[in-house]
Amino acid sequence: MGAILKLLLIIAVVVVAYYMYKFRSRPGVFKKSVKAAVEAAKKVAAEEEGRDTPPPPPPPPSGKVPVKLVACPKCGTYVAEGKACTCGG
Ligand SMILES: [Zn+2]
Repeated sequence: MGAILKLLLIIAVVVVAYYMYKFRSRPGVFKKSVKAAVEAAKKVAAEEEGRDTPPPPPPPPSGKVPVKLVACPKCGTYVAEGKACTCGG
C-alpha cells in the first residue's frame, strides 16, 4: 500500500513538472495548477502518514452566517432569532 502511495506522490511531482513546462508562459494558470497538484500531493502524504489523525476542520464560512430560526410564541411562524414577528408577538 505504501509503495502505491509513494508512486502517486511521484506522479504528482511529474504533473507539477508537466504544468511547469506547459504553462510557464501563463503565470495565472501555472500558479493555479501547481496549487492543485500540491494539494493532491499533500492529501496523498497525509493518507500515508496515518489514518488516526482527525480530518482538518472545515473552512470557515465566507461571509454569510447562517440564520437561526425560532418559532414565534404567539403564532408559530418561524422568524430569524432576535427579530420581531410580523404578527407583533
Ligand atoms: Zn408571530
